[in-house]
Amino acid sequence: MKQHAIAIHGGAGTILRSLMSSEKERSYKKGLEDAILAGDKILSNGGSALDAVELAVRALEDNPLFNAGKGAVFTNEGKNEMDASIMDGRNLMAGAVSGIQNIKNPISLSRAVMEKSEHVYLSGLGAKQFADKMKFEYTPDEYFYVQQRFDQLQSAKESDTMVLDHTGDSLEHGEKKFGTVGAVALDVHGNIAAATSTGGMTNKKFGRVGDSPIIGAGTYANNNTCAISCTGHGEFFIRAVVAYDISCLMEYKGLSLKAACDIVVNQKLVTFGGEGGLVAIDAKGNIELPFNSEGMYRGMKKSDGELYLGIYKD
Ligand code: ASP
Repeated sequence: MKQHAIAIHGGAGTILRSLMSSEKERSYKKGLEDAILAGDKILSNGGSALDAVELAVRALEDNPLFNAGKGAVFTNEGKNEMDASIMDGRNLMAGAVSGIQNIKNPISLSRAVMEKSEHVYLSGLGAKQFADKMKFEYTPDEYFYVQQRFDQLQSAKESDTMVLDHTGDSLEHGEKKFGTVGAVALDVHGNIAAATSTGGMTNKKFGRVGDSPIIGAGTYANNNTCAISCTGHGEFFIRAVVAYDISCLMEYKGLSLKAACDIVVNQKLVTFGGEGGLVAIDAKGNIELPFNSEGMYRGMKKSDGELYLGIYKD
């Protein structure tokens, strides 16, 4: 049997061991493990990388700990506006949505855009109309109400700042974390895929959209190079076209996945001032989980290896 593998993230940022209770750490690890195992099960049964990344991201979207789906942060107007994208490395098909509300699993809507529309990217009201047409169930506002997220909005409003999930002065004991969830996978057929989903920034205004739904910035997949899902300060990730940059270094310069990730995450982004990280896989099953922040919720499992879970830098 050919090998398969999956890697996921649940956000990056100033995540310090000294600020984490063991109970909270356990909950995060359980959330990551459940998502990896959901994707791994698909892959072990010969399923596609696309199904695996969608399912892993759905599991993270359903978990209120992560800034996506149920745990999505609040906008300035007290709404949950979510962004997501998915890409199939087999044929470079992609789907994305932004500014969507009342959809339980935005990642599945982005997949519907890819598979059932002639477009790549739908936003706001139009995306909602498409969701209705595709018979996506309406999920009421109460489902997305998470007290901690609402408190974060109040504190961001007080300081009139737009906050990337838990930023420095957050209620989470000074923890600074970029939210967002994502997954990349390789299936036994040799195909790779990537998926990313987020609530974006607390207190965001004016229809702000980050890198997560932007193909080439927050998400990219190409069987010939790599599949990437990013998390971090979206404005920088958009301007640095992070995911596609890694793919280009591999395609045009012949760099390995590791070397390409290192240049983009630990050199270019650092110089640029873009904090965050990403998960990456290539068609040989190599996995990289680079980040230039203090920590990144992350995990991976290869068919011939143990489950790995990580939060901090060490
Ligand atoms: N990259 C996301 C954005 O800018 C945020 C994050 O990763 O937490 O919307």
